[in-house]
Amino acid sequence: MLTSPSRRAELAAGQEPFAIVLGCSDSRVPAEIVFDQGLGDLFVIRVAGNIVASSQVGSVEFAAARFGTPLVVVLGHSQCGAVLATLEELQQPTEQQSRNLRSIVDRVRPSVEALLATELAHDPDALVRHAVRANIRVATNHLRHGSQILEQLIQGDRLLVVGAEYSLDTGVVEFFDGVPVSRRPTTR
Ligand SMILES: [Zn+2]
Repeated sequence: MLTSPSRRAELAAGQEPFAIVLGCSDSRVPAEIVFDQGLGDLFVIRVAGNIVASSQVGSVEFAAARFGTPLVVVLGHSQCGAVLATLEELQQPTEQQSRNLRSIVDRVRPSVEALLATELAHDPDALVRHAVRANIRVATNHLRHGSQILEQLIQGDRLLVVGAEYSLDTGVVEFFDGVPVSRRPTTR
């Protein structure tokens, strides 16, 4: 079982997660369930909009350096509320948004702002689809280049950072650059 008492006892001594997942807090996209993994398998960071701020970079650095975890998946999803909220804010700015919420919107904004100047601005569904993917790509690039520790691991072929999108409709995860090859999860 994914969460058996024996597996739990085994893990109390230490963990060796085979992937780090930076995903959205959305209740419909829990990383362990999406990827059918159990205790000790995934080091998961969840934040609305799967944004990358310092604490997310630090969490990835921690797992990659401490546990030697070789794979990072930035997992966005269709109809992401943080992306939708950012598009709404760009199209119709409000005054009363909380400063804390704004910090999330401000992280998503640079990824999606340019799309509003294209034809997509007239096609709301396509706009959201492209915005979600742009937000995932920017987060992925931020992790690849926003940390000296991670950059060194990547250059030494010890870390791979990939973007992926989960479809709320189909349950399928599409990896942007093909399905990554990683170590198999440990047997349980
Ligand atoms: Zn989301």
